[in-house]
Amino acid sequence: MLVDAHCHLTGSYLAEAEIEATLDRARQAGVSGFVAVGTDLEDSARVLGLARTVPGIQASLGVHPHEARTWEAGTEAALEALVSDPNVRFVGETGLDWHYDLSPRDQQEAVFRAQIRLARRVRKPLMIHTRSAPGDTLRILREEGAEAVRGIIHCFSEDRAFAEGALELGFYLSFSGIVTFRKAEAVRAVAAWAPEDRILVETDAPFLAPVPYRGKPNEPGFVRYTAETVAELRGVAPARIAEATTRNLEALCGWAPAS
Ligand SMILES: [Zn+2]
Repeated sequence: MLVDAHCHLTGSYLAEAEIEATLDRARQAGVSGFVAVGTDLEDSARVLGLARTVPGIQASLGVHPHEARTWEAGTEAALEALVSDPNVRFVGETGLDWHYDLSPRDQQEAVFRAQIRLARRVRKPLMIHTRSAPGDTLRILREEGAEAVRGIIHCFSEDRAFAEGALELGFYLSFSGIVTFRKAEAVRAVAAWAPEDRILVETDAPFLAPVPYRGKPNEPGFVRYTAETVAELRGVAPARIAEATTRNLEALCGWAPAS
């Protein structure tokens, strides 16, 4: 049994008419749990609707660093109302993206800090997006006391030094299709080395499909290829990675899907 620790199933990411068939294919591939992630307030409301009604889905709600510019006076209170629902297991995705810079950096930082404080108020772990900003991400997590709630470094794409800093703060490392790309040597090395009780697997669907679907739209059922690659890199059976990652998600957020 596998859990996809981070996927997008709403709005522009996946047509509503496709959800059922997509989840059926995933279940046939042995994936029975899905953490569906919201990227702005409107998307987060849609994700919560799914988590409330579809078995096996729980929500992670927040404002993505790309969308930080949409954060306005009422956003924090509205998001707090949404994340207080028991079907919401994480706050985010939130973080810093200094690769694309789609929102001004000062605004990304302010919105990131606000969501760490929110996570601490509602006592739920964080879902972190970080790109080209490893040092600042760790510094802000430390300054805001994020180890009180911990969380997931989603779509892990950094190196071992960053991984060590994140693990020190109690965070979990979630590996995506990137580990199946031969050239992603630093990420593959971390996947081979990271403590077994701190690893997760995800698709980040519809992005970053693993080999053998690289370049095609990604979907939660493909998380098995990522889990198989992590197992291969660590020299263990795929079933062991499936069990460990399912157990780890439960240890972090208190939820495991019914088998
Ligand atoms: Zn995402």
